[in-house]
Amino acid sequence: MDVTAKWHGKRYYSLDAYLKNTYGQKFKKISIDAGFTCPNRDGTLGSRGCIFCSAGGSGDFALPYGSVVAAEPYIAYFQAYTCTYAPVASLDSIYRSALEDPLVIGISIATRPDCLPPEVLSLLADLKIKYPEKFIWIELGLQTIHEKTAYYIRRGYPLHCFSHAVRQLHLLGIPVITHVILGLPGETKAMMLQTIDYLNDTPISGVKLQLLHILKNTDLALDYEQELFSALSLNGYLDLLISCIRRLSPDTVIHRVTGDGPKELLIAPLWSRDKKKVLNSLHHRMKQEDAYQGKDWKGKKYDPRTSDAL
Ligand code: SF4
Repeated sequence: MDVTAKWHGKRYYSLDAYLKNTYGQKFKKISIDAGFTCPNRDGTLGSRGCIFCSAGGSGDFALPYGSVVAAEPYIAYFQAYTCTYAPVASLDSIYRSALEDPLVIGISIATRPDCLPPEVLSLLADLKIKYPEKFIWIELGLQTIHEKTAYYIRRGYPLHCFSHAVRQLHLLGIPVITHVILGLPGETKAMMLQTIDYLNDTPISGVKLQLLHILKNTDLALDYEQELFSALSLNGYLDLLISCIRRLSPDTVIHRVTGDGPKELLIAPLWSRDKKKVLNSLHHRMKQEDAYQGKDWKGKKYDPRTSDAL
């Protein structure tokens, strides 16, 4: 089996390729702000949020809940803040209203692993049974496996909390997409690759590899202005990104290879505004270097482009 066919011409297993393989077509993901908050902002764990998080709760492009007007099938992405952090009855009603929408093919819920208590897990399990033709994905913001960095960014939970949540979700058959940030202050390439190695040994389905954005009105911006760290260049980012893609298991779907910093809030890196250029440069460099997902994967040693082991 030639997995480049499975990847639809890209050198990595993108979300678009996964959707085409599964549904025969691509779908848009529409970001929704359903009015949640976050324990890192409401005073439960902290009030200033993760050090990089904007006032929009990492959902600066999200549309208010109920205002989505779609003409085509789409994925409803509950993105802003912590989208399982509310009473179960409210979650039930919010998720159901999306799942009942004939245009919604599935929902993707961004949250924290410390906000998945048993009652939320059991709601997700019930909804999975009630809507078997739709999918439910959970997106967890891990960012890094390194506790020192996690402390600096004020993530607010230890690594074992993430691995426990992933195991629980895996047992329920709910796919997990993990967010990783490349370029966090103090992290070397070796540390970022350790995060990828860790994820290779964890039952996740997908990953978002995101560039660290420095946004206005964040504590990260204060550290940046004091020159405590510097922003990545485009080439520096591509070096890290390609190394991570090469190291990642070829089975893991890559949902994102950059990230969208809202233009009006973005302080650095400004080159990231030109997403098309970033993607073109990535694809060009991967081709030049004959790089592809899984090339340096420490699991089974085979060329995923020619092996039929997948
Ligand atoms: S990044 Fe997520 S977990 Fe962190 S403060 Fe923002 S909404 Fe909360």
